[in-house]
Amino acid sequence: MQVQFWGTRGSIPKPGPTTIRYGGNTLCVEVRTARGTLVIIDCGTGLHGLGLKLMAGGTKGLTGHILISHTHWDHIQGVPFFVPFFVPGTVWDIYGPKGLNQSLRDTLAGQMQHTYFPVTTDEFGATVRYHDLVEGTFEIDDIKVTTQYLNHPALTLGYRLEADGVSVVYCCDHEPFTRALADGHGVSVGLDQRHADFVEGADLLIHDAQYTAAEYSSKVGWGHSTGEFVVNLARRANVRRVALAHHDPLRNDDAVERIIANLRDGLGADGSSLVVSAAAEGEVIALDASDARAAQAAIAGFSALTPLEPALVQRSILISVADPKIATALGDAARAEGLRANFCASAEAAHALIAKDPPSLAMIDRDAARDSRGIYDAIRRIEDDKLPIVVVAGDEDDADGVKDWLITPFTESYARTKMRAWVLREACRWARAPIPKDEERRLNLVRELGLFDSSPDERLDRITRLATALFDVPMATITLLDEHRQWFKSRHGVAAQESPRDVSFCAHVIHLREPMVVTDALQDDRCADNPLVRGEPRIRFYAGYPLKLDDGTCIGTLCLLDTRPRVMSESQLDRLGDLACIATDEIRATDTKKVRRA
Ligand SMILES: [Zn+2]
Ligand SMILES: [Zn+2]
Repeated sequence: MQVQFWGTRGSIPKPGPTTIRYGGNTLCVEVRTARGTLVIIDCGTGLHGLGLKLMAGGTKGLTGHILISHTHWDHIQGVPFFVPFFVPGTVWDIYGPKGLNQSLRDTLAGQMQHTYFPVTTDEFGATVRYHDLVEGTFEIDDIKVTTQYLNHPALTLGYRLEADGVSVVYCCDHEPFTRALADGHGVSVGLDQRHADFVEGADLLIHDAQYTAAEYSSKVGWGHSTGEFVVNLARRANVRRVALAHHDPLRNDDAVERIIANLRDGLGADGSSLVVSAAAEGEVIALDASDARAAQAAIAGFSALTPLEPALVQRSILISVADPKIATALGDAARAEGLRANFCASAEAAHALIAKDPPSLAMIDRDAARDSRGIYDAIRRIEDDKLPIVVVAGDEDDADGVKDWLITPFTESYARTKMRAWVLREACRWARAPIPKDEERRLNLVRELGLFDSSPDERLDRITRLATALFDVPMATITLLDEHRQWFKSRHGVAAQESPRDVSFCAHVIHLREPMVVTDALQDDRCADNPLVRGEPRIRFYAGYPLKLDDGTCIGTLCLLDTRPRVMSESQLDRLGDLACIATDEIRATDTKKVRRA
Protein backbone atom coordinates (compact mmCIF):
# COMPACT_ATOMS: atom_id res chain seq x y z
CA MET A 1 0.00 0.00 0.00
CA GLN A 2 1.25 3.46 -0.85
CA VAL A 3 0.25 6.72 0.76
CA GLN A 4 0.90 10.18 -0.68
CA PHE A 5 0.17 13.51 0.97
CA TRP A 6 -1.33 16.13 -1.36
CA GLY A 7 -2.36 18.49 1.43
CA THR A 8 -1.36 18.55 5.10
CA ARG A 9 -2.44 21.97 6.37
CA GLY A 10 -5.45 22.57 8.63
CA SER A 11 -8.05 25.32 8.69
CA ILE A 12 -6.94 27.47 5.71
CA PRO A 13 -4.47 27.05 2.82
CA LYS A 14 -1.14 28.68 3.61
CA PRO A 15 1.07 28.52 0.54
CA GLY A 16 4.21 30.62 0.51
CA PRO A 17 7.94 30.69 1.14
CA THR A 18 7.56 29.76 4.84
CA THR A 19 5.58 26.57 4.21
CA ILE A 20 7.49 25.01 1.35
CA ARG A 21 8.70 21.89 3.15
CA TYR A 22 5.45 20.80 4.78
CA GLY A 23 3.06 22.39 2.30
CA GLY A 24 0.32 24.96 2.22
CA ASN A 25 -2.61 23.00 0.84
CA THR A 26 -5.33 21.73 3.16
CA LEU A 27 -5.76 18.01 3.79
CA CYS A 28 -5.85 15.46 1.02
CA VAL A 29 -4.30 11.99 1.11
CA GLU A 30 -4.01 9.49 -1.72
CA VAL A 31 -3.96 5.78 -0.87
CA ARG A 32 -3.20 3.09 -3.48
CA THR A 33 -3.26 -0.63 -2.91
CA ALA A 34 -0.97 -3.03 -4.73
CA ARG A 35 -3.93 -4.01 -6.90
CA GLY A 36 -4.42 -0.37 -7.89
CA THR A 37 -7.51 0.57 -5.89
CA LEU A 38 -7.53 4.33 -5.43
CA VAL A 39 -8.85 5.90 -2.24
CA ILE A 40 -8.65 9.62 -1.59
CA ILE A 41 -9.09 10.75 2.00
CA ASP A 42 -10.42 14.27 2.38
CA CYS A 43 -10.78 16.89 -0.31
CA GLY A 44 -8.89 19.93 0.91
CA THR A 45 -7.18 22.16 -1.64
CA GLY A 46 -4.53 19.47 -2.13
CA LEU A 47 -7.14 17.59 -4.17
CA HIS A 48 -6.50 19.95 -7.09
CA GLY A 49 -2.94 18.70 -7.61
CA LEU A 50 -4.02 15.09 -7.28
CA GLY A 51 -6.75 15.65 -9.89
CA LEU A 52 -4.20 17.02 -12.34
CA LYS A 53 -1.93 14.03 -11.81
CA LEU A 54 -4.83 11.66 -12.45
CA MET A 55 -5.77 13.54 -15.61
CA ALA A 56 -2.19 13.28 -16.85
CA GLY A 57 -2.34 9.52 -16.39
CA GLY A 58 -5.32 9.28 -18.78
CA THR A 59 -8.98 9.20 -17.86
CA LYS A 60 -9.99 6.01 -19.62
CA GLY A 61 -11.39 3.66 -16.99
CA LEU A 62 -10.54 6.18 -14.26
CA THR A 63 -12.42 5.33 -11.09
CA GLY A 64 -11.85 6.00 -7.43
CA HIS A 65 -13.30 6.26 -3.95
CA ILE A 66 -13.30 9.37 -1.82
CA LEU A 67 -13.61 9.26 1.97
CA ILE A 68 -14.57 12.55 3.58
CA SER A 69 -13.95 12.91 7.31
CA HIS A 70 -16.31 15.84 7.73
CA THR A 71 -17.52 18.76 5.71
CA HIS A 72 -15.61 21.65 7.27
CA TRP A 73 -14.20 23.76 4.47
CA ASP A 74 -10.57 22.74 4.86
CA HIS A 75 -11.67 19.15 4.09
CA ILE A 76 -13.92 19.75 1.07
CA GLN A 77 -12.74 22.92 -0.60
CA GLY A 78 -10.92 21.03 -3.33
CA VAL A 79 -14.12 19.36 -4.59
CA PRO A 80 -15.11 22.06 -7.13
CA PHE A 81 -11.58 22.01 -8.54
CA PHE A 82 -11.17 18.25 -8.95
CA VAL A 83 -10.99 18.11 -12.73
CA PRO A 84 -11.85 14.37 -13.08
CA PHE A 85 -15.35 15.15 -11.74
CA PHE A 86 -16.02 16.94 -15.01
CA VAL A 87 -14.84 14.12 -17.25
CA PRO A 88 -17.61 11.84 -18.56
CA GLY A 89 -16.84 8.17 -18.18
CA THR A 90 -14.94 8.46 -14.90
CA VAL A 91 -16.69 7.02 -11.83
CA TRP A 92 -16.40 8.31 -8.27
CA ASP A 93 -17.89 7.00 -5.06
CA ILE A 94 -17.90 9.59 -2.31
CA TYR A 95 -18.37 8.46 1.29
CA GLY A 96 -18.83 10.66 4.31
CA PRO A 97 -20.65 10.92 7.60
CA LYS A 98 -24.33 11.48 7.33
CA GLY A 99 -25.09 14.95 8.65
CA LEU A 100 -27.84 15.40 11.18
CA ASN A 101 -30.03 17.46 8.90
CA GLN A 102 -28.84 16.83 5.39
CA SER A 103 -27.16 14.24 3.28
CA LEU A 104 -23.51 14.38 2.25
CA ARG A 105 -24.64 15.12 -1.29
CA ASP A 106 -26.58 18.23 -0.23
CA THR A 107 -23.74 19.50 1.93
CA LEU A 108 -21.23 19.19 -0.89
CA ALA A 109 -23.67 20.73 -3.34
CA GLY A 110 -24.09 23.65 -0.93
CA GLN A 111 -20.57 24.97 -1.50
CA MET A 112 -21.13 24.80 -5.26
CA GLN A 113 -24.31 26.84 -5.38
CA HIS A 114 -24.15 29.60 -7.98
CA THR A 115 -23.51 32.21 -5.31
CA TYR A 116 -20.14 30.59 -4.59
CA PHE A 117 -19.14 28.79 -7.75
CA PRO A 118 -20.11 28.92 -11.46
CA VAL A 119 -20.72 25.18 -11.84
CA THR A 120 -23.02 23.06 -9.69
CA THR A 121 -22.64 19.41 -8.73
CA ASP A 122 -25.48 18.64 -11.16
CA GLU A 123 -23.10 19.56 -13.96
CA PHE A 124 -20.46 16.97 -13.04
CA GLY A 125 -19.75 14.96 -16.18
CA ALA A 126 -18.49 11.98 -14.21
CA THR A 127 -20.69 9.41 -12.56
CA VAL A 128 -20.62 10.46 -8.91
CA ARG A 129 -22.32 8.34 -6.27
CA TYR A 130 -22.77 9.52 -2.71
CA HIS A 131 -22.76 7.24 0.31
CA ASP A 132 -23.72 8.44 3.77
CA LEU A 133 -21.85 6.57 6.46
CA VAL A 134 -22.29 5.81 10.12
CA GLU A 135 -19.96 3.76 12.30
CA GLY A 136 -19.23 0.28 11.03
CA THR A 137 -17.20 -1.55 8.44
CA PHE A 138 -17.53 -1.94 4.70
CA GLU A 139 -15.39 -2.95 1.81
CA ILE A 140 -13.95 -0.96 -1.08
CA ASP A 141 -12.63 -3.56 -3.50
CA ASP A 142 -9.61 -5.06 -1.71
CA ILE A 143 -9.73 -2.62 1.23
CA LYS A 144 -11.57 -3.20 4.48
CA VAL A 145 -12.70 0.16 5.82
CA THR A 146 -13.72 0.70 9.43
CA THR A 147 -15.23 3.98 10.56
CA GLN A 148 -15.53 5.49 13.99
CA TYR A 149 -16.81 8.86 15.14
CA LEU A 150 -14.20 11.36 16.27
CA ASN A 151 -14.53 14.21 18.75
CA HIS A 152 -14.99 17.39 16.72
CA PRO A 153 -17.63 20.13 16.57
CA ALA A 154 -18.89 18.66 13.26
CA LEU A 155 -19.95 15.04 12.80
CA THR A 156 -16.60 13.52 11.86
CA LEU A 157 -15.49 10.01 10.99
CA GLY A 158 -12.05 8.49 11.39
CA TYR A 159 -11.09 5.88 8.79
CA ARG A 160 -9.12 2.71 9.23
CA LEU A 161 -8.03 1.12 5.94
CA GLU A 162 -6.71 -2.43 5.88
CA ALA A 163 -5.27 -3.98 2.72
CA ASP A 164 -2.08 -5.61 1.45
CA GLY A 165 -1.42 -6.83 5.00
CA VAL A 166 -1.02 -3.32 6.39
CA SER A 167 -3.26 -0.71 7.97
CA VAL A 168 -3.53 3.06 7.68
CA VAL A 169 -5.66 5.08 10.09
CA TYR A 170 -6.72 8.65 9.40
CA CYS A 171 -8.05 10.77 12.28
CA CYS A 172 -8.63 14.42 11.31
CA ASP A 173 -10.07 16.36 13.03
CA HIS A 174 -10.08 15.07 16.58
CA GLU A 175 -9.70 16.37 20.12
CA PRO A 176 -9.17 13.98 23.04
CA PHE A 177 -12.50 13.30 24.74
CA THR A 178 -10.79 13.73 28.09
CA ARG A 179 -9.14 17.12 27.80
CA ALA A 180 -6.56 16.32 30.45
CA LEU A 181 -5.00 13.85 28.00
CA ALA A 182 -3.94 16.73 25.73
CA ASP A 183 -0.66 17.16 27.64
CA GLY A 184 0.42 13.72 26.48
CA HIS A 185 0.29 12.02 29.86
CA GLY A 186 -2.35 9.95 31.52
CA VAL A 187 -4.17 6.77 30.74
CA SER A 188 -7.00 6.42 28.27
CA VAL A 189 -10.39 5.29 29.47
CA GLY A 190 -13.89 5.24 28.03
CA LEU A 191 -14.19 6.91 24.64
CA ASP A 192 -10.48 7.74 24.56
CA GLN A 193 -9.74 4.06 25.05
CA ARG A 194 -12.15 3.32 22.21
CA HIS A 195 -10.18 5.77 20.09
CA ALA A 196 -6.95 4.01 21.06
CA ASP A 197 -8.54 0.67 20.14
CA PHE A 198 -9.46 2.13 16.76
CA VAL A 199 -5.85 3.05 15.92
CA GLU A 200 -4.37 -0.08 17.55
CA GLY A 201 -1.45 -1.59 15.68
CA ALA A 202 -1.67 0.80 12.70
CA ASP A 203 1.33 0.76 10.39
CA LEU A 204 0.68 4.42 9.69
CA LEU A 205 -1.44 6.76 11.77
CA ILE A 206 -2.23 10.13 10.20
CA HIS A 207 -3.57 12.23 13.05
CA ASP A 208 -4.69 15.78 13.71
CA ALA A 209 -2.01 17.48 15.83
CA GLN A 210 -2.73 21.13 15.20
CA TYR A 211 -1.48 22.35 18.57
CA THR A 212 1.22 21.76 21.14
CA ALA A 213 0.42 20.96 24.75
CA ALA A 214 1.64 24.43 25.71
CA GLU A 215 -0.84 26.08 23.31
CA TYR A 216 -3.78 23.88 24.20
CA SER A 217 -5.19 25.78 27.19
CA SER A 218 -6.49 28.53 24.89
CA LYS A 219 -7.78 26.02 22.29
CA VAL A 220 -9.89 23.75 24.48
CA GLY A 221 -13.07 22.62 22.73
CA TRP A 222 -11.87 23.64 19.26
CA GLY A 223 -11.79 20.01 18.21
CA HIS A 224 -8.07 19.45 17.68
CA SER A 225 -5.31 17.40 19.25
CA THR A 226 -1.83 18.17 20.45
CA GLY A 227 1.31 16.47 19.17
CA GLU A 228 1.99 15.25 22.71
CA PHE A 229 -1.41 13.55 22.89
CA VAL A 230 -0.97 11.89 19.50
CA VAL A 231 2.48 10.52 20.29
CA ASN A 232 1.29 9.13 23.62
CA LEU A 233 -1.74 7.61 21.90
CA ALA A 234 0.40 6.06 19.16
CA ARG A 235 2.78 4.50 21.66
CA ARG A 236 0.02 3.07 23.82
CA ALA A 237 -1.73 1.65 20.76
CA ASN A 238 1.39 0.00 19.28
CA VAL A 239 1.36 2.20 16.19
CA ARG A 240 4.42 1.73 13.97
CA ARG A 241 4.62 5.17 12.44
CA VAL A 242 2.75 8.40 13.07
CA ALA A 243 2.43 11.35 10.69
CA LEU A 244 1.23 14.48 12.45
CA ALA A 245 -1.11 16.47 10.26
CA HIS A 246 -3.54 19.41 10.13
CA HIS A 247 -0.61 21.79 10.67
CA ASP A 248 -1.70 25.09 12.10
CA PRO A 249 -1.71 27.86 9.44
CA LEU A 250 0.41 30.00 11.79
CA ARG A 251 3.16 27.38 11.80
CA ASN A 252 6.07 27.81 9.38
CA ASP A 253 8.36 24.96 8.35
CA ASP A 254 10.91 25.67 11.07
CA ALA A 255 8.21 25.66 13.74
CA VAL A 256 6.90 22.29 12.50
CA GLU A 257 10.41 20.88 12.66
CA ARG A 258 10.99 22.17 16.17
CA ILE A 259 7.81 20.44 17.34
CA ILE A 260 8.82 17.15 15.76
CA ALA A 261 12.31 17.39 17.24
CA ASN A 262 10.85 17.96 20.72
CA LEU A 263 8.51 15.01 20.40
CA ARG A 264 11.33 12.76 19.17
CA ASP A 265 13.51 13.83 22.10
CA GLY A 266 10.76 12.73 24.46
CA LEU A 267 10.65 9.35 22.74
CA GLY A 268 14.37 8.78 22.66
CA ALA A 269 14.57 8.85 26.43
CA ASP A 270 12.90 5.48 26.83
CA GLY A 271 13.82 3.75 23.62
CA SER A 272 10.49 3.68 21.80
CA SER A 273 10.64 2.43 18.22
CA LEU A 274 7.74 4.65 17.14
CA VAL A 275 8.58 6.71 14.05
CA VAL A 276 7.31 10.29 14.40
CA SER A 277 7.17 12.71 11.50
CA ALA A 278 5.16 15.66 10.25
CA ALA A 279 3.09 14.93 7.15
CA ALA A 280 4.72 16.80 4.26
CA GLU A 281 2.98 17.73 1.04
CA GLY A 282 4.32 15.57 -1.80
CA GLU A 283 5.71 12.94 0.56
CA VAL A 284 5.17 9.30 -0.42
CA ILE A 285 5.13 6.55 2.19
CA ALA A 286 5.29 2.96 1.01
CA LEU A 287 3.98 0.47 3.55
CA ASP A 288 5.30 -3.02 3.25
CA ALA A 289 3.60 -6.00 4.86
CA SER A 290 6.96 -7.63 5.60
CA ASP A 291 7.90 -4.71 7.84
CA ALA A 292 4.46 -4.78 9.40
CA ARG A 293 4.55 -8.37 10.47
CA ALA A 294 5.96 -7.72 13.92
CA ALA A 295 3.32 -5.13 14.75
CA GLN A 296 0.54 -7.38 13.53
CA ALA A 297 1.77 -10.42 15.39
CA ALA A 298 1.87 -8.39 18.55
CA ILE A 299 -1.82 -7.65 18.35
CA ALA A 300 -3.02 -10.87 16.78
CA GLY A 301 -5.64 -12.60 18.86
CA PHE A 302 -6.53 -9.61 20.93
CA SER A 303 -6.90 -6.89 18.37
CA ALA A 304 -9.02 -4.24 19.98
CA LEU A 305 -11.34 -4.23 16.99
CA THR A 306 -12.34 -7.83 17.38
CA PRO A 307 -14.58 -7.48 20.41
CA LEU A 308 -16.48 -4.72 18.67
CA GLU A 309 -17.04 -6.83 15.60
CA PRO A 310 -19.98 -9.02 16.44
CA ALA A 311 -21.22 -12.02 14.56
CA LEU A 312 -23.85 -10.90 12.09
CA VAL A 313 -25.33 -14.36 11.97
CA GLN A 314 -28.31 -14.95 14.22
CA ARG A 315 -29.51 -11.42 13.47
CA SER A 316 -32.51 -10.33 11.50
CA ILE A 317 -33.97 -7.30 9.77
CA LEU A 318 -37.65 -6.48 9.76
CA ILE A 319 -38.71 -5.19 6.35
CA SER A 320 -42.03 -3.59 5.57
CA VAL A 321 -42.24 -2.03 2.11
CA ALA A 322 -45.10 -2.14 -0.37
CA ASP A 323 -43.09 -2.01 -3.60
CA PRO A 324 -42.28 -5.65 -4.43
CA LYS A 325 -39.11 -4.67 -6.33
CA ILE A 326 -37.73 -2.74 -3.36
CA ALA A 327 -38.74 -5.54 -0.99
CA THR A 328 -36.86 -8.07 -3.09
CA ALA A 329 -33.81 -5.81 -3.34
CA LEU A 330 -33.74 -5.31 0.44
CA GLY A 331 -34.22 -9.04 1.06
CA ASP A 332 -31.33 -9.84 -1.27
CA ALA A 333 -29.12 -7.22 0.35
CA ALA A 334 -29.89 -8.57 3.84
CA ARG A 335 -29.18 -12.15 2.85
CA ALA A 336 -25.95 -11.07 1.16
CA GLU A 337 -24.90 -9.71 4.56
CA GLY A 338 -25.79 -12.99 6.26
CA LEU A 339 -28.87 -11.52 7.91
CA ARG A 340 -32.36 -13.00 8.04
CA ALA A 341 -34.98 -10.86 6.32
CA ASN A 342 -38.47 -10.94 7.83
CA PHE A 343 -41.26 -9.25 5.92
CA CYS A 344 -44.50 -7.89 7.30
CA ALA A 345 -47.41 -5.91 5.89
CA SER A 346 -49.38 -4.92 8.96
CA ALA A 347 -48.87 -3.69 12.51
CA GLU A 348 -50.15 -7.04 13.87
CA ALA A 349 -47.70 -9.00 11.74
CA ALA A 350 -44.88 -6.70 12.89
CA HIS A 351 -45.87 -7.40 16.51
CA ALA A 352 -45.81 -11.14 16.01
CA LEU A 353 -42.49 -11.10 14.12
CA ILE A 354 -40.73 -8.94 16.69
CA ALA A 355 -41.80 -11.31 19.47
CA LYS A 356 -40.69 -14.36 17.49
CA ASP A 357 -37.43 -13.06 16.05
CA PRO A 358 -36.24 -9.79 17.64
CA PRO A 359 -34.74 -7.73 14.79
CA SER A 360 -31.62 -5.54 14.87
CA LEU A 361 -33.02 -3.08 12.36
CA ALA A 362 -36.36 -2.20 10.79
CA MET A 363 -36.73 -0.82 7.28
CA ILE A 364 -40.09 0.71 6.52
CA ASP A 365 -41.45 2.69 3.60
CA ARG A 366 -43.84 5.63 3.55
CA ASP A 367 -46.90 4.12 1.97
CA ALA A 368 -50.09 5.79 3.15
CA ALA A 369 -52.26 3.26 1.30
CA ARG A 370 -51.27 0.42 3.59
CA ASP A 371 -50.79 2.22 6.87
CA SER A 372 -47.01 2.12 7.04
CA ARG A 373 -47.32 4.86 9.66
CA GLY A 374 -49.28 2.41 11.84
CA ILE A 375 -46.54 -0.20 11.46
CA TYR A 376 -43.93 2.41 12.24
CA ASP A 377 -45.76 3.53 15.39
CA ALA A 378 -46.35 -0.07 16.46
CA ILE A 379 -42.65 -0.89 16.23
CA ARG A 380 -41.72 2.20 18.18
CA ARG A 381 -44.22 1.30 20.90
CA ILE A 382 -43.00 -2.29 21.23
CA GLU A 383 -39.34 -1.47 21.05
CA ASP A 384 -39.45 1.68 23.10
CA ASP A 385 -37.30 3.53 20.53
CA LYS A 386 -34.47 1.06 20.97
CA LEU A 387 -34.77 -0.53 17.54
CA PRO A 388 -33.20 1.63 14.82
CA ILE A 389 -35.68 2.37 12.05
CA VAL A 390 -34.48 3.25 8.57
CA VAL A 391 -37.19 4.78 6.42
CA VAL A 392 -37.10 3.85 2.74
CA ALA A 393 -38.40 6.78 0.71
CA GLY A 394 -37.79 9.01 -2.27
CA ASP A 395 -37.08 11.94 -0.01
CA GLU A 396 -36.45 12.75 3.65
CA ASP A 397 -39.07 14.41 5.82
CA ASP A 398 -38.99 15.47 9.43
CA ALA A 399 -40.76 12.51 11.07
CA ASP A 400 -39.44 12.06 14.59
CA GLY A 401 -37.70 8.91 15.70
CA VAL A 402 -36.32 8.11 12.24
CA LYS A 403 -32.71 7.05 12.68
CA ASP A 404 -31.78 7.06 9.05
CA TRP A 405 -33.07 7.16 5.50
CA LEU A 406 -32.51 4.93 2.53
CA ILE A 407 -33.33 7.12 -0.43
CA THR A 408 -34.67 5.41 -3.53
CA PRO A 409 -33.39 4.44 -5.99
CA PHE A 410 -30.43 2.76 -4.30
CA THR A 411 -27.83 0.21 -5.28
CA GLU A 412 -27.63 -3.14 -3.52
CA SER A 413 -24.15 -2.38 -2.21
CA TYR A 414 -25.41 0.86 -0.72
CA ALA A 415 -28.31 -0.89 1.00
CA ARG A 416 -25.89 -3.50 2.31
CA THR A 417 -23.53 -0.85 3.68
CA LYS A 418 -26.41 0.77 5.50
CA MET A 419 -27.73 -2.48 6.93
CA ARG A 420 -24.29 -3.56 7.97
CA ALA A 421 -23.47 -0.25 9.61
CA TRP A 422 -26.68 -0.23 11.59
CA VAL A 423 -26.64 -3.86 12.56
CA LEU A 424 -22.98 -3.67 13.52
CA ARG A 425 -23.55 -0.58 15.56
CA GLU A 426 -26.59 -2.10 17.20
CA ALA A 427 -24.58 -5.25 17.70
CA CYS A 428 -21.89 -3.29 19.50
CA ARG A 429 -24.21 -3.77 22.43
CA TRP A 430 -23.02 -7.33 22.43
CA ALA A 431 -19.25 -7.52 22.63
CA ARG A 432 -17.36 -10.75 22.46
CA ALA A 433 -14.88 -10.91 25.29
CA PRO A 434 -11.33 -10.20 24.12
CA ILE A 435 -8.99 -13.18 24.09
CA PRO A 436 -6.82 -13.20 27.25
CA LYS A 437 -3.15 -12.43 26.68
CA ASP A 438 -2.05 -15.74 28.20
CA GLU A 439 -4.67 -17.69 26.25
CA GLU A 440 -2.43 -20.42 24.88
CA ARG A 441 -0.96 -21.25 28.26
CA ARG A 442 -4.39 -20.99 29.85
CA LEU A 443 -5.91 -23.42 27.37
CA ASN A 444 -3.10 -25.92 27.91
CA LEU A 445 -3.61 -25.78 31.67
CA VAL A 446 -7.37 -26.19 31.35
CA ARG A 447 -6.88 -29.17 29.05
CA GLU A 448 -4.35 -30.73 31.42
CA LEU A 449 -6.95 -30.60 34.17
CA GLY A 450 -8.98 -32.99 32.05
CA LEU A 451 -12.31 -31.61 33.27
CA PHE A 452 -13.93 -30.94 29.90
CA ASP A 453 -16.78 -33.30 29.10
CA SER A 454 -16.17 -35.15 32.37
CA SER A 455 -19.04 -36.56 34.41
CA PRO A 456 -20.73 -34.50 37.15
CA ASP A 457 -18.82 -34.05 40.39
CA GLU A 458 -20.87 -33.89 43.58
CA ARG A 459 -18.23 -31.79 45.35
CA LEU A 460 -18.68 -29.04 42.73
CA ASP A 461 -22.45 -29.49 42.35
CA ARG A 462 -22.69 -28.87 46.09
CA ILE A 463 -21.13 -25.45 45.54
CA THR A 464 -23.47 -24.30 42.75
CA ARG A 465 -26.47 -25.60 44.76
CA LEU A 466 -25.28 -23.69 47.79
CA ALA A 467 -24.67 -20.55 45.73
CA THR A 468 -28.23 -20.43 44.39
CA ALA A 469 -29.63 -20.82 47.90
CA LEU A 470 -27.24 -18.37 49.52
CA PHE A 471 -27.81 -15.59 46.97
CA ASP A 472 -31.41 -16.44 46.18
CA VAL A 473 -30.83 -16.73 42.43
CA PRO A 474 -32.32 -19.36 40.12
CA MET A 475 -29.07 -20.30 38.37
CA ALA A 476 -25.41 -20.86 39.16
CA THR A 477 -22.64 -22.53 37.20
CA ILE A 478 -19.00 -23.45 37.38
CA THR A 479 -17.88 -22.58 33.88
CA LEU A 480 -14.81 -23.65 31.98
CA LEU A 481 -13.78 -22.00 28.74
CA ASP A 482 -12.06 -23.69 25.83
CA GLU A 483 -11.29 -22.30 22.40
CA HIS A 484 -14.82 -22.29 21.05
CA ARG A 485 -17.26 -22.87 23.88
CA GLN A 486 -18.05 -22.44 27.53
CA TRP A 487 -18.77 -25.75 29.22
CA PHE A 488 -20.51 -26.04 32.57
CA LYS A 489 -18.60 -28.37 34.85
CA SER A 490 -21.41 -27.86 37.32
CA ARG A 491 -24.78 -26.20 36.78
CA HIS A 492 -27.80 -25.57 38.90
CA GLY A 493 -30.99 -24.29 37.23
CA VAL A 494 -29.34 -24.14 33.79
CA ALA A 495 -30.65 -26.51 31.12
CA ALA A 496 -27.80 -26.29 28.62
CA GLN A 497 -24.52 -28.14 29.14
CA GLU A 498 -22.54 -25.70 27.02
CA SER A 499 -22.84 -22.67 24.74
CA PRO A 500 -20.64 -20.87 22.17
CA ARG A 501 -17.78 -18.80 23.53
CA ASP A 502 -19.12 -15.74 21.67
CA VAL A 503 -22.13 -15.48 23.96
CA SER A 504 -20.24 -16.22 27.17
CA PHE A 505 -20.41 -13.71 30.03
CA CYS A 506 -17.80 -15.77 31.84
CA ALA A 507 -15.32 -15.16 29.01
CA HIS A 508 -15.29 -11.50 30.07
CA VAL A 509 -14.41 -12.48 33.65
CA ILE A 510 -11.65 -14.74 32.37
CA HIS A 511 -10.27 -11.95 30.23
CA LEU A 512 -10.48 -9.42 33.08
CA ARG A 513 -9.26 -11.94 35.71
CA GLU A 514 -11.50 -10.02 38.06
CA PRO A 515 -15.05 -10.43 39.32
CA MET A 516 -17.68 -8.92 37.03
CA VAL A 517 -21.21 -7.95 38.01
CA VAL A 518 -23.84 -7.00 35.43
CA THR A 519 -26.77 -5.61 37.37
CA ASP A 520 -29.04 -5.30 34.32
CA ALA A 521 -27.88 -6.92 31.10
CA LEU A 522 -30.29 -4.88 28.99
CA GLN A 523 -28.52 -1.70 30.11
CA ASP A 524 -25.03 -3.05 29.53
CA ASP A 525 -23.32 -2.46 26.19
CA ARG A 526 -21.35 -5.69 26.46
CA CYS A 527 -24.41 -7.87 26.58
CA ALA A 528 -27.70 -6.08 25.86
CA ASP A 529 -28.04 -7.90 22.53
CA ASN A 530 -26.48 -11.17 23.59
CA PRO A 531 -28.82 -13.99 22.44
CA LEU A 532 -28.82 -15.30 26.04
CA VAL A 533 -30.27 -11.94 27.06
CA ARG A 534 -32.61 -11.29 24.13
CA GLY A 535 -33.71 -14.96 24.03
CA GLU A 536 -33.80 -17.87 26.48
CA PRO A 537 -32.85 -18.03 29.31
CA ARG A 538 -33.30 -14.20 29.26
CA ILE A 539 -30.44 -13.37 31.59
CA ARG A 540 -30.72 -9.95 33.23
CA PHE A 541 -28.30 -10.31 36.13
CA TYR A 542 -24.83 -11.84 36.12
CA ALA A 543 -22.12 -12.08 38.75
CA GLY A 544 -18.99 -14.07 37.94
CA TYR A 545 -15.91 -14.72 40.06
CA PRO A 546 -12.70 -15.98 38.47
CA LEU A 547 -11.29 -19.38 39.44
CA LYS A 548 -7.57 -18.66 39.60
CA LEU A 549 -4.66 -21.02 40.07
CA ASP A 550 -1.66 -19.99 42.16
CA ASP A 551 0.16 -18.50 39.16
CA GLY A 552 -2.84 -16.29 38.38
CA THR A 553 -4.08 -18.34 35.43
CA CYS A 554 -7.83 -18.10 35.24
CA ILE A 555 -9.29 -21.47 34.34
CA GLY A 556 -12.97 -20.67 34.73
CA THR A 557 -15.59 -18.97 36.83
CA LEU A 558 -18.19 -19.49 39.47
CA CYS A 559 -21.17 -17.43 38.41
CA LEU A 560 -24.68 -16.49 39.45
CA LEU A 561 -27.48 -15.77 36.96
CA ASP A 562 -30.94 -14.32 37.32
CA THR A 563 -33.74 -13.35 34.97
CA ARG A 564 -34.34 -10.17 36.99
CA PRO A 565 -32.00 -7.20 37.36
CA ARG A 566 -30.46 -7.01 40.82
CA VAL A 567 -27.62 -5.43 42.74
CA MET A 568 -24.90 -7.14 44.69
CA SER A 569 -23.25 -5.74 47.81
CA GLU A 570 -19.53 -5.91 48.40
CA SER A 571 -19.90 -8.40 51.21
CA GLN A 572 -22.00 -10.62 48.96
CA LEU A 573 -19.31 -10.46 46.31
CA ASP A 574 -16.73 -11.42 48.96
CA ARG A 575 -18.84 -14.42 49.87
CA LEU A 576 -19.05 -15.43 46.20
CA GLY A 577 -15.25 -15.14 46.21
CA ASP A 578 -15.04 -17.55 49.14
CA LEU A 579 -17.15 -20.08 47.27
CA ALA A 580 -14.99 -19.59 44.17
CA CYS A 581 -11.89 -20.39 46.27
CA ILE A 582 -13.52 -23.58 47.54
CA ALA A 583 -14.34 -24.55 43.96
CA THR A 584 -10.75 -23.86 42.86
CA ASP A 585 -9.44 -25.98 45.74
CA GLU A 586 -11.70 -28.87 44.75
CA ILE A 587 -10.57 -28.61 41.13
CA ARG A 588 -6.94 -28.50 42.20
CA ALA A 589 -7.48 -31.56 44.40
CA THR A 590 -8.91 -33.43 41.42
CA ASP A 591 -5.88 -32.46 39.42
CA THR A 592 -3.46 -33.63 42.11
CA LYS A 593 -5.17 -37.03 42.24
CA LYS A 594 -4.94 -37.28 38.50
CA VAL A 595 -1.28 -36.36 38.58
CA ARG A 596 -0.64 -38.94 41.33
CA ARG A 597 -2.42 -41.60 39.32
CA ALA A 598 -0.20 -40.77 36.40
ZN1 LIG B 1 -9.92 20.63 9.70
ZN1 LIG C 1 -12.87 20.45 11.21
